[in-house]
Amino acid sequence: MPNPRTVIIGGGFAGLSCAKALGGAPTDVTLIDQRNYHLFQPLLYQAATALLSPSEIAWPIRTLLRRYKNIQTLLGTVVGVDRAARVVHLEGRQSVPFDYLVVATGARHAYFGHDDWEAFAPGLKNLDDATDIRRKILLAFEQAEFEPDPAKRAALLTFVIIGGGPTGVELAGMIAELTRRTLPGEFRAFSPQSARVILVEANARILTTFTEPLSDFAVRSLADMGVEVLAGKAVTHIDAKGVVVGDEPIEAATVLWAAGVQASPAALWLHAASDRAGRVIVGPDLSIEAGIWVIGDTAAAQSEGKPVPGLAPAAKQQGKYVAAEIRRRLRGDAKPSAPFRYRNQGNLATVSRKAAIAEFPHLRLKGWIAWWLWGIAHIFFLIGARNRLAVALNWLWAHATGGRGARLITRHDEHGRSDQDDLRPSHRRH
Ligand SMILES: Cc1cc2nc3c(=O)[nH]c(=O)nc-3n(C[C@H](O)[C@H](O)[C@H](O)COP(=O)(O)OP(=O)(O)OC[C@H]3O[C@@H](n4cnc5c(N)ncnc54)[C@H](O)[C@@H]3O)c2cc1C
Repeated sequence: MPNPRTVIIGGGFAGLSCAKALGGAPTDVTLIDQRNYHLFQPLLYQAATALLSPSEIAWPIRTLLRRYKNIQTLLGTVVGVDRAARVVHLEGRQSVPFDYLVVATGARHAYFGHDDWEAFAPGLKNLDDATDIRRKILLAFEQAEFEPDPAKRAALLTFVIIGGGPTGVELAGMIAELTRRTLPGEFRAFSPQSARVILVEANARILTTFTEPLSDFAVRSLADMGVEVLAGKAVTHIDAKGVVVGDEPIEAATVLWAAGVQASPAALWLHAASDRAGRVIVGPDLSIEAGIWVIGDTAAAQSEGKPVPGLAPAAKQQGKYVAAEIRRRLRGDAKPSAPFRYRNQGNLATVSRKAAIAEFPHLRLKGWIAWWLWGIAHIFFLIGARNRLAVALNWLWAHATGGRGARLITRHDEHGRSDQDDLRPSHRRH
């Protein structure tokens, strides 16, 4: 008899950990992803701000699963699932049948009903976003070197980040360091230190998933680097000129979105119940019916009565849990499933190259000690010795000199426009 077929959609933290835990199991596994790489999202902001190269934080999924002979990797975009016929539909390819299905398609940006803002305020979710943002930031400085009008130059040198969660804080801190440590001395028409970096948060404080003393520490550290934190203020409008915060317009050439996420459309494919963020509501064993599980950022899961957070460790734990469930079924074990339990491994965020905050169930840390802990944890979780070494060296280099190794303005668009096009007046925003 042929082995049962397991299909995993998504090679992110959840899907990859599930696939690896099924390596060698008596099931033919197919992992489908729309990208050919697994991305370490926690360091994406460093690729967006030219500290790391994209290739240092992403790996081909095919390579990561090479050693597991029972796993096939397919590059394809899932557009639907037929639960009754047990098949997954791909865009422009043949459908893939399954006996067990694991949906792990993550989340994307949400603009709270203002989808038109996306064109002016890109979000950070994948490598294309990171290289686009890097290009946008670096080009603003290049354009400012040409700009004779002081008001227009000031707008080019104003960076607004919307959303005071870890990603917004990390982006603001990194851009401030770029302006204060990396770029000084390289421009003649202006001083990079004159750039404004503004972090806007609608809640009364930033980093609401951390306790108040740690969030206050982050505000002080950001202020030390020259970041203006506007907490308790909502953005009401975004266009090519900049943003309106409350009723105050701020002219800014670079506006970045780190404010909201929406789950992938898995709930629509599966015709399953979802919460307000579009996440599929799953049972205590992370399934929606026998043999179909939804995990990671695309699931609204509970553990001991509390929502499971949208974090990488939670996604990995769910992937391993479901793999164990599938292995149990393959063994013919008919016992009811024990519910999924999330083990809190702590919450970390960096503010600058020497300050971070860390919160564990019985311990809180801030400052350089938290930064070292954050750094060691991230190096540890990166895949492969080469990348660990490259990232550690980049960090040490940046720490010692302020220099950044990936300050390249590149484009990946198919129209063949050159970087010069963005410097021509018709492409300028003002
Ligand atoms: C900028 C940023 C910073 C973060 N920082 C941290 C941090 O410091 N610490 C932390 O713990 N967490 C952090 N997170 C959250 C963490 O990355 C997520 O919780 C985690 O990635 C969720 O894993 P996942 O497998 O559910 O989704 P993902 O890792 O997003 O993977 C989803 C996969 O599904 C694929 N996919 C999506 N749709 C389709 C489709 N239709 N067809 C085929 N494939 C599809 C995608 O290509 C992707 O590979 C951060 C997230 C972001 C965006």
